[in-house]
Amino acid sequence: MKITDCHVHIQPVEMFKTAALEAMKRKRANYEQVIEFCRSPKKFLQHLDAVGVERAVLINYVAPEVMGFTPAVNDFVANYCKESPQRLIPCGSIHPRHTQNVLADIERILRLGIRMIKIHPPHQLLYPNDYVNEVKELEIIYRAAEANGIPVMVHTGTSIFPGARNKYGDPMFVDDVAVDFPKLKILLAHGGRPLWMENAFFLLRRHSNVFLDISGIPPRNLLKYFPRLEEIANKTLFGTDWPGPSVPDMKQNLDEFRGLALAPQVQEQILSKTA
Ligand SMILES: [Zn+2]
Repeated sequence: MKITDCHVHIQPVEMFKTAALEAMKRKRANYEQVIEFCRSPKKFLQHLDAVGVERAVLINYVAPEVMGFTPAVNDFVANYCKESPQRLIPCGSIHPRHTQNVLADIERILRLGIRMIKIHPPHQLLYPNDYVNEVKELEIIYRAAEANGIPVMVHTGTSIFPGARNKYGDPMFVDDVAVDFPKLKILLAHGGRPLWMENAFFLLRRHSNVFLDISGIPPRNLLKYFPRLEEIANKTLFGTDWPGPSVPDMKQNLDEFRGLALAPQVQEQILSKTA
């Protein structure tokens, strides 16, 4: 079985704002490992081998106010993934409110080979449907992603990074996006945890183009949060969110997921097939 981790944060560490970096470091025993992997794709690939993960999607996004990330994250991740294009999949972004020329920026990230676009409402300080509130750039980004077959991952649920605004974290604002862009594949990162799982589950059942990324949910809580997970297994992707604040270790996360009372074919679907 070839496992895909659809949500790993390999990022340019030097770009982090001090407060954001402190939030990531807190309670983390293996911080040096984070630094090492963010600098060396070879080392990270060795780690994936050791953990038993075939592919990883490396999540990056532009969020200057909260995280310090500039559009240079796109170049960083595209370059990093050159080490193994089969196994390392670059996810990048355009900030709808900071872009000067949205069409040119879309062209640019497509040329870089970015294969998924991340929208992080609590860190980018906007609603995922803010094109209904005059943020036209957001509509253009979704249209372009839809036309080019590029999925969009939307962070849903809370964030504890300093300066994050959690009102933007409710998945229900993705309902408009799913309706207005019916061919766009939308991945709900974290399933709205820990406040809005019911909204996430509704959207997953309501829209054929909405998918679930279980990263950032402690596996011990997964079936408590999504008791009907088996019904949506064909729309569910395994991910860890390592090295996010609640994810100490990829291997541990994977082992705990494997320990859940789920049928073997459901496990396989989520770990390997949906992605
Ligand atoms: Zn994340």
